[in-house]
Amino acid sequence: MSKTYRNIVILTGAGISAESGIKTFRAADGLWEDHRVEDVATPEGFIKDPHLVHRFYNERRQHLLNGIEPNTAHLAVASLSQQRQQEGHGQVTLVTQNIDNLHQRAGSEPIFPMHGELLRIRCKQSGELFDCHEDTSPEDHCPCCDIAGNLRPHIVWFGEMPLYMNEIERALSQCDLFVAIGTSGNVYPAAGFFETAKHFGAYTVELNLEPSVTASRFDEQYYGPATELVPRFFDSLN
Ligand code: NAD
Repeated sequence: MSKTYRNIVILTGAGISAESGIKTFRAADGLWEDHRVEDVATPEGFIKDPHLVHRFYNERRQHLLNGIEPNTAHLAVASLSQQRQQEGHGQVTLVTQNIDNLHQRAGSEPIFPMHGELLRIRCKQSGELFDCHEDTSPEDHCPCCDIAGNLRPHIVWFGEMPLYMNEIERALSQCDLFVAIGTSGNVYPAAGFFETAKHFGAYTVELNLEPSVTASRFDEQYYGPATELVPRFFDSLN
């Protein structure tokens, strides 16, 4: 692959954060940190047991804030876009399905966290967002409307519309290289982004620990741990 690419879209999933110590989502058995996704990652689960859902994201948030650091794969993604920006080389658009803040801490900017962010909370009524580093509960009063129970995690749950779709669609239609990193290809619409990019003429590459469910339809595939594969792959683009 020796061509010089101009506009690059990078899609990351839970696999890029695995070596930082954050568990991936186990699509095969539908479990996320030993919880059924229906219970902790759907609007119905939140209505049924808001205490459980707040507790689940409190645990994820406290874990993230206590000793979890970006790894060499997050850093390689950030340095690719910084380097290309400095050189005036076209756009690198980073789309992540991850709710952790490891890309942001590695220095990636701009970034589209399409499934929301663990360190933000939102008013169900107004949609206003608040930074959140502390534990939350259904008894908390919302800072904007002062109503108890109006705050919810700023997470896109199954059945809800992902964020930044217009920006993502635009980037997909303009890229000439699409790279998927550490994503199993089970969660839509993200799992279909490579097809959109391909449709508009992009070359598509998968970097993952093991073949995703859509692996064979990518133009190129490399398998191994993200901390090794990602720096090596981006070095090869220079
Ligand atoms: P997934 O958990 O379904 O799949 C993870 C993929 O990463 C798998 O294909 C696996 O083979 C691969 N992988 C595991 N370890 C790896 C490594 N060291 N190097 C490279 N690849 C590795 O992930 P998904 O496709 O992102 O879907 C999960 C959903 O759950 C997302 O929507 C996300 O919002 C949520 N989630 C987020 C986090 C996070 O923010 N870090 C963690 C778990 C789940």
